[in-house]
Amino acid sequence: MYCPTCFQNTLKLRSNGVVKLSFNGKARNTSLFTYNLQKDSGVELAKKLREKIADFLSWYSELKNKTPIKVFEVYSSDCQCTNACKIDLVNTKISVIGVMYSFKEIQHIMNEEGAKYGIEIALTPP
Ligand SMILES: [Zn+2]
Repeated sequence: MYCPTCFQNTLKLRSNGVVKLSFNGKARNTSLFTYNLQKDSGVELAKKLREKIADFLSWYSELKNKTPIKVFEVYSSDCQCTNACKIDLVNTKISVIGVMYSFKEIQHIMNEEGAKYGIEIALTPP
């Protein structure tokens, strides 16, 4: 991943931290979860993601104006540059799609949960 300070491909996720979700730019204050790459298996990480997607979509399904979900972001600020750059962790959003989850896996979970809550999912592959 590219560091926003030195622009080198030297950015790494910390072994534990917080992942946040955003759906068409919207999120609930529950749209986040903690991860620990030393402890969590891929199955556990997928389960956490699915729970938070379901949490948002069940809330979203109650709204009157529902537009298809086209932009889904899964990101973290818990990263460090191996060049020891100082990174503005408040304003840095690092996508973990392709790092912690593949796009296919995300699309699969979104499509299943979207069908459950009657919400159209129209994600564009990266
Ligand atoms: Zn850097």
